[in-house]
Amino acid sequence: MDRTKKVFHCTLCLLLIFAFFSSPMLVFASQVPDYIKVGLKYGSTAVSSCRLTSETGFQIINVEDDAFEETLPISAYTDLTASVENGMVVLRSEDGSVISTSLGKDDCIMTMDYEKDGLIYYEGKPYRDGIQLIPDGNNKIMVLNYITMDHYLYGVLQGEMGQAAPLEALKAQAVAARSYAMTNLYVHKSYGFHVCATTHCQVYNGYSWEKEKTNQAVDETSGKILYSDGKPAAAYYHKNSGGYTQNSKDVWSTQLPYLAAVKDEYCPDYSWTATMSFDQIQSRLEVCGYDPGTVQSVSISARNESGAVSELTIVGNKNTITLKKESVRTVLGGSSLKSTQFSISSDSSKNTSNGNALSVSNGSQSANVNQSLVIISSSGNKQVHNVDGLVVSNGGSKQTISGKSSSVTETVTNGSVTFEGKGYGHGIGMAQDSAIAMANQGMRYDEILKYFYTDAEIY
Ligand SMILES: [Zn+2]
Repeated sequence: MDRTKKVFHCTLCLLLIFAFFSSPMLVFASQVPDYIKVGLKYGSTAVSSCRLTSETGFQIINVEDDAFEETLPISAYTDLTASVENGMVVLRSEDGSVISTSLGKDDCIMTMDYEKDGLIYYEGKPYRDGIQLIPDGNNKIMVLNYITMDHYLYGVLQGEMGQAAPLEALKAQAVAARSYAMTNLYVHKSYGFHVCATTHCQVYNGYSWEKEKTNQAVDETSGKILYSDGKPAAAYYHKNSGGYTQNSKDVWSTQLPYLAAVKDEYCPDYSWTATMSFDQIQSRLEVCGYDPGTVQSVSISARNESGAVSELTIVGNKNTITLKKESVRTVLGGSSLKSTQFSISSDSSKNTSNGNALSVSNGSQSANVNQSLVIISSSGNKQVHNVDGLVVSNGGSKQTISGKSSSVTETVTNGSVTFEGKGYGHGIGMAQDSAIAMANQGMRYDEILKYFYTDAEIY
């Protein structure tokens, strides 16, 4: 799925080292931890009260350092209500009697049969392993799911790829999701848990999402993650590459060796179009803090080596704004622009443009030249040049204008832009559609992963 909201951790190594020295409570991320803490409700979503149910009764376990010391057997109760009183989480039974007034960050409520896959229900929704209810300091309860890494992945995989995919593709997805989680274990450190349950980390929906085949993919790759240079690899993934995956530096900022652009020979077609009026583009820019004024033109001003748009320039009557790399999508809307592999046109230019026009400008006015450049001297002599292959010079350096040169722009000036694109997502790492196609052709999960994550190792 699309992971555009993610902030790329360009200083991953430093982050891991920092986290190791500053947080002895959380495991060091070179090995897959047995248990992780998933944030279900926290910050603005923290709750005032909640209900837990089980079929077999509860126990309260101290899970500090994963020690699992039983502190309070309460097997007689199958229905508990929690509320905050004077900053403390108070647990009551169905008849209102107080069970505990001192639940803290190391206490975990588990069912009596959690080791036999017993489920705990938070507000009627089933989860594996345990639920932690922690006072958040603002008279609310932070709710965490304390869960094994593989049980967590059970609740992730169906949403990220789904059981209809072939098993080897699901296994590749399981290893990618486990690796991704490993490199994300510290992003919510200030709250005291590892990963959240939304697209910010990976969408996790608990036991409700589990399917036999996706669980099998997790089990058959248990403990396996991708490494690069001996460190866990941030295994970003996306839906469809459009035929070429992207260098991480071309989307975010830093180039990681295993996130290098790959010509994707297995990519099924995924084409899309989107039309946006200049007014819509203006308002999207304004929402993001830009002030273009009335939009007058939209141009593709640079493409990267994969052919994706790396700069989109919007000229307004107040300011000219150049969106770079992934901000092209995040500012204009990732649901409209499914990828940065697109061309632009307007209805009027569509029939005449070859998609690679030369834009000539004196700084304030500009004109498009689609195929032939005609130079007319003051005496009326004409010279006609083909745009493709034209060499331009400022008297010193020379540049040849051809195909996808960054000197060539595609410009729309007439009030609305039609984007015609291919691919879906940021284009980094494994393309899920291709992984499915590769598995259908008989490739194993490790072959799929090594195709997309350059020189990465799996163990
Ligand atoms: Zn998160």
